[in-house]
Amino acid sequence: MTINLNELTLHELINLLDKEPERVEELIDSLYGRIEEFDGDVQAYLETADKESLIEEAKENSEKPLKGIPGAIKDNIQTLGFKTTCASRFLKDYDSVYDATVVKHLKEAGSPVLGKANLDEFAMGSSTENSYFQTTRNPNDLTRVPGGSSGGSAAAVAADEAIYALGSDTGGSVRHPAAFCGVVGLKPTYGLVSRYGLTAFASSLDQIGPITKDVYDAALLLNIIGKHDEMDSTSAVRPAVDYTEGIDEGVEGLKVGFPEEYFGDELDSRIQKKAKRWKETFEGLGAEIVEISLPHTEYAIATYYLISSSEASANLARFDGVRYTSRAEIDSIDELFSRSRDEGFGSEVKRRIFLGTYALSAGYYDEYYGKAQKARRLIKGDFDSAFEDIDLIAAPTSPTPAFKIGEKIEDPLEMYLSDIFIVPINLAGIPAMSIPAGEVEGLPVGMQLMGSSLSENIILRAGYAFEKSFIDSDS
Ligand code: GLN
Repeated sequence: MTINLNELTLHELINLLDKEPERVEELIDSLYGRIEEFDGDVQAYLETADKESLIEEAKENSEKPLKGIPGAIKDNIQTLGFKTTCASRFLKDYDSVYDATVVKHLKEAGSPVLGKANLDEFAMGSSTENSYFQTTRNPNDLTRVPGGSSGGSAAAVAADEAIYALGSDTGGSVRHPAAFCGVVGLKPTYGLVSRYGLTAFASSLDQIGPITKDVYDAALLLNIIGKHDEMDSTSAVRPAVDYTEGIDEGVEGLKVGFPEEYFGDELDSRIQKKAKRWKETFEGLGAEIVEISLPHTEYAIATYYLISSSEASANLARFDGVRYTSRAEIDSIDELFSRSRDEGFGSEVKRRIFLGTYALSAGYYDEYYGKAQKARRLIKGDFDSAFEDIDLIAAPTSPTPAFKIGEKIEDPLEMYLSDIFIVPINLAGIPAMSIPAGEVEGLPVGMQLMGSSLSENIILRAGYAFEKSFIDSDS
């Protein structure tokens, strides 16, 4: 049987190319073959590298740790030689002017860039339907969304059109599409991965993370991108950690909390049933299951949308028709700002700017933004108290499996509610990883593992053990 190299994981390919470096060309051939065959349907990529140049670049990297294996980068991350459009009409012609720190690290480790992946405009959304250019489809069912906002990144990996991808997670955008597409998505602790070169959405929440085919690959990539960067003032200063070390040590004796608030009525009953199997799996591995409560979870959506929109309204003020790209035709200079913004931004982005500007305006600031900051502290406090007694929290990533294209796009509040289990993590600044944990009617279900700040090694260890032993008995 011949294997298609595009179907392998990053670590399998590293082992293979270590022995047979010349096969990197075959790998790239297989990736482009797959993209040609399937991306017309999936529409994960906004742009791909020139194949011949990529093969050349890959070959030059055979001695480096990542052996020339290329990755896909979400198109809100600066990447030399490509545009960085943020899937916005505003930036449709914007060429990257430098490499984001994460891209620099990946290149230094021997991984060139295969292409730029689609997203919801400026990473605002949960379905990748808010892209100005195209709607990415879920490779498991082309009538359904891939989740969002890093839907292009997750779909590319799930469709074997990429070996791995980077996404950004402000309110779940790495974990949510990973869950919908059936791949692994890791949102690191705030500050662990440099944000330099990531187009700012909500600066106190944004974090770049890997989307991969398995847990080990997430650990490998975190080793490369999780480094201090003096170009990012919020970057954590800490010694290098090898996240693959001890990853196979299992979860014997660890306490895993299941929060009751994540298993309420809004959770699809079929996912509810899966959770029983998750508990049994952990118990079988020698972990102890603890029922816990995160009482302020109900405020997370309102808190997140106020804070993220407030920060977005400030961050997006730089798109003014003068700097960056698109400028509207104008009769007078007074119209430059408003017309350019009216034409450049899509409706979801405008909605966030309105909401954020309102929440920050004099007279309303205390009532909305100020209150949201207080609620944020309470939500973080829930996690802090929980982690005094337990090592990890496990819960569904999303209340439902992938929904249909068009199902929620007309109803923003409905769309926001699909983020209920993921936004608390960003508000608290802690790490979390979504891993495949069963299927309902052929659609992947994601389980999310959360830990205290900088506990990525425990999350990865537990995810690794779970991935190896979980059996989906009733799919
Ligand atoms: N669904 C979230 C939002 O729309 C996702 C944001 C993100 O993580 N980029 O804001």
